[in-house]
Amino acid sequence: LSDTAERTVNSLCPFCGVGCQLTYHIKDDQLIKVEGRKGPANEEKLCVKGRFGFDYIHHPHRLTKPLIRKEGAAKEPIDPANPLSHFREASWEEALDKTAQGFKRYQPSELAGFGSAKGSNEEAYLFQKIVRAGFGTNNVDHCTRLCHASSVSALMEGIGSAAVTAPFMDALKADVIIVIGSRPAQNHPVAATYIKEAVKKGAKLIVMDPRRQGLTRFADHMVQFKSGSDVALLNAMIHTIIEEGLVNQDYIEKYTEDFDKLADKIKDFSPDAMQEICGIKADEIRTIARTYAKAERSLIFWGMGVTQHVHGTDNVRSLMALALITGHMGRDGTGLHPLRGQNNVQGASDSGLIPMVYPNYQPVASKEVHDKFEEFWQVKLDPEPGLTVVEIMHEIQAGKLKSMYIMGENPAMSDPDANNSRKSLSMLDHLVVQDIFLTETAMYADIILPASAFPEKTGTFTNTNRQIQMARQALNPPGQAKQDLWIICEIAKRMGLDWSYESAKDVHLEMEQIMGSLNGITWDRLEAEDCLTYPNGQAVLFGEGFPTANSKGRIVPTDLIPPDEVPDTDYPFVLTTGRMLEHWHTGAMTRRAAVLNQIEAHPVASLNPKELNKMGLEAGDMITVSTRRGTVDIHARPDRDVPTGMVFIPFCFKEAAANLLTNPQLDPYGKIPEVKTCAAKITPSKP
Ligand code: SF4
Repeated sequence: LSDTAERTVNSLCPFCGVGCQLTYHIKDDQLIKVEGRKGPANEEKLCVKGRFGFDYIHHPHRLTKPLIRKEGAAKEPIDPANPLSHFREASWEEALDKTAQGFKRYQPSELAGFGSAKGSNEEAYLFQKIVRAGFGTNNVDHCTRLCHASSVSALMEGIGSAAVTAPFMDALKADVIIVIGSRPAQNHPVAATYIKEAVKKGAKLIVMDPRRQGLTRFADHMVQFKSGSDVALLNAMIHTIIEEGLVNQDYIEKYTEDFDKLADKIKDFSPDAMQEICGIKADEIRTIARTYAKAERSLIFWGMGVTQHVHGTDNVRSLMALALITGHMGRDGTGLHPLRGQNNVQGASDSGLIPMVYPNYQPVASKEVHDKFEEFWQVKLDPEPGLTVVEIMHEIQAGKLKSMYIMGENPAMSDPDANNSRKSLSMLDHLVVQDIFLTETAMYADIILPASAFPEKTGTFTNTNRQIQMARQALNPPGQAKQDLWIICEIAKRMGLDWSYESAKDVHLEMEQIMGSLNGITWDRLEAEDCLTYPNGQAVLFGEGFPTANSKGRIVPTDLIPPDEVPDTDYPFVLTTGRMLEHWHTGAMTRRAAVLNQIEAHPVASLNPKELNKMGLEAGDMITVSTRRGTVDIHARPDRDVPTGMVFIPFCFKEAAANLLTNPQLDPYGKIPEVKTCAAKITPSKP
């Protein structure tokens, strides 16, 4: 116990996919302190968010009563000074009855739901179940669509499994580590400590990113390539490896297929031909290719910089090809690790919050799978895969989708081209939002259901390492706010579903029956052991082939596809977006955490100091950043990590929402929007 705490509760960090274990210290029903625990992914470490980002749960903005939009109140414009003026308080009975009656008015195809990667596995499972079994549609998605959907599509196609092949702690066993399109020191800080430690022990680090970053000073090679040229760079590496005979022929023959197709295609991608496109000298490309291929053990990490492109799936296909042709797979210190963002984006995806797959990635389009779930849930199910996040927004404007249930997501801030998303939300006949704050999305709701924050509930969460961990309730939700599981069940009952779940454990027991990945991962074991890795406790996967029809990994050659928008004379900058160390995603939690918001209180756009000099601007001056979709006024911040010709805006600031600017164009496979790059212009703001 800390000096003044009355009790402690062991749980998890609510923020990123690292999944740090922690202990809450509680006094007078208030969290007063958080300490790191000796979890397998953090060994007592916490970053600034985990350590200081907990007091949001006591913020006076917490929703404590159900709210219903007043008769005739316009959905926009919202009065930012008094947004609650559009709503009246309601009893739970009235709010839940109206919620269910509203959903029942529509055809299945007119309904959709966004679940949350911040909810537990059990909440995710029940959410996709209510949409599938209660609404009768597969229109259920969540923020995986905005982060690793392209990783999932490429990994499933290539090796039949969408999760990481090795945990990030395996950096300590690797000889060479590639980090591409990811900024772990900012976004997965505790995972980054393992990479830094590995470098200190002698591993070579290759960082590949258009911006320099926290890991740059640990890197042997900082490969600052042009935004959107990933395939050119990766294929030039593959070209070198094949041309110089650095492939692992035994591995290729035993464990892969279609190497010949790759070898044929890759002839067009010599480093000499690609250096102009990716902005990296041919000799440097050859050097990093040799470094990766010749090492005994090489491991690749990637993040949104790889995935959030119209060619995001191709980027991941090229990364997989690198690993497969060199045999850097299936052994300690090797493999592929897409660093998961949200604390449960892995688990929410595993649990079926995806429109084209049921829990455990069982395809909706398979009649056998469809029939199995109809039998298991004893209900008629839609045989067609559903719509994804951005497609749902389009269908609303096409008049085909009329009602939504959104739990814990904030598409008004997180979706690309947010003006358009907000227009879609405002056009819904019946929008129910379940959340802990009046988010930018909740402002468009017809009914708002006050929900529970992370420390107010018990459930399991799956981190980026495939480690399923137990989070425990430390406090009760404030006022009349309720636990999310209870809310979903109450709506389900009113929709005619015969549900009798009393607890997260009941839901987990059902999941164990239908999800093979949970084999041996029982609730009781998780309660006792806190953390179990799936499948079957294996930290490193695929030493003896892959879960594909012929046990081989499929190598898929890729073509050069440019970004959908590139700078031109009207919009001469590249705009890129992402996260910052102190704030989490759309900022709903961390901007209400006192310490974190004190460190980063104001919206900033980072630019190379040379660009500020050119415009005669100083740090903190206001600039206007515009794209073909929107405009924001924001403070300029000089940042040498950002190359000239680029501007970076984090998407956590509602006052200058980066996604008002971003491009909704989709990768055709993963249906992920290209929020990582678009064309922008910058002008000094008028005083
Ligand atoms: Fe939380 Fe991630 Fe920081 Fe760990 S690294 S404390 S999980 S935000």
